[in-house]
Amino acid sequence: MNKQTIMDLDVKGKKVLVRVDFNVPLDEKQNITNDKRIISALPTINYLLDNRAKIILMSHLDRPKGKVIPKLSLKPVAKRLSELLGKEVKMMPDCIGKEVEQQVKQLKECEIALLENTRFHKEETNNDSEFAKTLANLADIFVNDAFGTVHRAHSSNVGVAQYLPSAIGFLIEKEIKYLNEAIENPERPFTAILGGVKVSDKIDMITNLLEKVDNLLIGGAMMFTFLRAMDYQTGRSKLEEDKIDLAKELLNKAKNNGVNLILPKDVVIADKFDNDADIKEVSVNNIPSEWIGLDIGSGTIAEFQNVIKASKTIVWNGPMGVFEMENFAKGTLSIAKALAEVKAITIIGGGDSASAVEKFGLSEAMTHISTGGGASLAFLEGKELPGISAIQDDKSSR
Ligand code: AMP
Repeated sequence: MNKQTIMDLDVKGKKVLVRVDFNVPLDEKQNITNDKRIISALPTINYLLDNRAKIILMSHLDRPKGKVIPKLSLKPVAKRLSELLGKEVKMMPDCIGKEVEQQVKQLKECEIALLENTRFHKEETNNDSEFAKTLANLADIFVNDAFGTVHRAHSSNVGVAQYLPSAIGFLIEKEIKYLNEAIENPERPFTAILGGVKVSDKIDMITNLLEKVDNLLIGGAMMFTFLRAMDYQTGRSKLEEDKIDLAKELLNKAKNNGVNLILPKDVVIADKFDNDADIKEVSVNNIPSEWIGLDIGSGTIAEFQNVIKASKTIVWNGPMGVFEMENFAKGTLSIAKALAEVKAITIIGGGDSASAVEKFGLSEAMTHISTGGGASLAFLEGKELPGISAIQDDKSSR
């Protein structure tokens, strides 16, 4: 995947339209509760400032579904970005239209405009070519740095790239570097740790990883579908009855591919789905019919930790238990700690595992935490990412 990067283009004095991922969480008063995504976009923005570009930023926020929803305005982002840069960020009234065109035309070198939420227009998610062209007409160059949406083909990341010289920004470059390296050229042993609820959401990822990894560790509610495939009784634990046959196939595939697939040997169970439930730890062949498995047990933690210690590359996607409740967070926390301590490349897929690592304050100790849940999943599934494919190849690979 040799794509043109921002450093391959001469941006001085040019209007550069940058698709960033400013889809930040907001509370009911429109305060940003986590600005990680804004901070992740800073290297590209600072590079453009240092190289005297005229910067036009655009992003979606949440899912307004083609309607103008004032509480999903990017105004709070303009304010936060301006604080982070110590510089004015001009908030535009929309992402297209006469008023925006005029204001953008007047931008001087090193000035920054932020377009309003692209999803206020229904054309955005349809990858409408007219809408894409209108966006492209605002600028001379297009840079995609929104890793969180690379698995989607929308006007602001794919459509627009048809009409302008294009490149990827530093965030996408970094994400590809770590994810691609880990998947295609891992230092071995290569271990994947998977958790979360649904096998059905993760079939393609498991199938793809079974071609690549040496070890596959499975926790989370997903383990119960696999345990049932091995004829264990799992009580009232969450599982997908209709995916038991598929789990059998995946177990066979692991065997055929020589992958060391390890399922938990013990679990923390509770008499109800509640932090204050009665709780005990049992072996997986001893789960009473009325109880629910909510975390991996201590024997499993020890076994997973040993595999982690012996690995050189580790990819983690999905929590080991219901980590949102303190009494069922130990499995997820122990895995996060083991990853923080091991001398290996550690890559955390976005979404829940990334929030868990952040919640435990261990982010700094990981090699790379992906900023995109769906996008990193698509990457681990081996799927084509339209937001990256749409960008021009670099000169050496053309
Ligand atoms: P996913 O979105 O598929 O990665 O799933 C993440 C969710 O899985 C988290 O909210 C966890 O609380 C949940 N989870 C993990 N283990 C279990 C379990 N044993 N039973 C029910 N939910 C679980």
